[in-house]
Amino acid sequence: MRLRILGASGGIGAGARTTSFLLGRDVLIDAGTGVGDLSLDELGAIDHVVLTHSHLDHVTALPFLLDAVGASRQRPVTVHAQAATLDVLKAHIFNNAVWPDFARIPSPERPFLRYEVFAAGQERVLGGCRVRSIPVTHVVPAVGFLFQGPNGSLAFSGDTASTEEFWKVLNSCPDLRHLIIETSFVDAEEEIARIARHFCPATVVAELRKLKRRPIIHITHLMPGEEKEILREIAHHDAGLEVHPLVPGTVIEF
Ligand SMILES: [Zn+2]
Ligand SMILES: [Zn+2]
Repeated sequence: MRLRILGASGGIGAGARTTSFLLGRDVLIDAGTGVGDLSLDELGAIDHVVLTHSHLDHVTALPFLLDAVGASRQRPVTVHAQAATLDVLKAHIFNNAVWPDFARIPSPERPFLRYEVFAAGQERVLGGCRVRSIPVTHVVPAVGFLFQGPNGSLAFSGDTASTEEFWKVLNSCPDLRHLIIETSFVDAEEEIARIARHFCPATVVAELRKLKRRPIIHITHLMPGEEKEILREIAHHDAGLEVHPLVPGTVIEF
């Protein structure tokens, strides 16, 4: 499997793009602003969008994606997420006020968009890859994912604070090769991180100590302008693991 990083920042500005990864050619993991760099052909090839949660930095490109390619596609794009996340999309985005209800447009029989509940704890095969949804701890219902490729597994935390089930699943995964995990704030902002249910370097390293596997760690969702300091603080706390910043354009094979 190939995971192409389109966006891996906590915000925008100076080239930063918010969370979005392309799994193979046809599965989009979160729909942050990084999606805007894809060509129309690449956008048109996306059959499935899998969402960690409803926050705007993870869903903002979805309305534009459907607008750009809906008419030229032969079938709807399927959005997979927890019921609570889908309810937010229906009520607050595709509500014919903020954006058209593409689950009924251009017609209820041939819409641009289809919703499919992907509950926490469930597994399904998307684009030839087995995907498991794992509940995590955030200010809105949120999940991370475990992707099982032919040469190992890759986990993605989504947005989270201290969590348990995620580590239980990862510790029972014998071939975990990569972990993409968020660290949104510097240690000086630990209180903001706690309220917003994100990690800062001290708390992410405490979490990584729960991990019994030794995957390559990719840090994502760093606040723009604070990247160097966040990475310096993570190195200072020393998780005893190989840690890299996640950079758009990177392709992770697994
Ligand atoms: Zn969030
Ligand atoms: Zn986020």
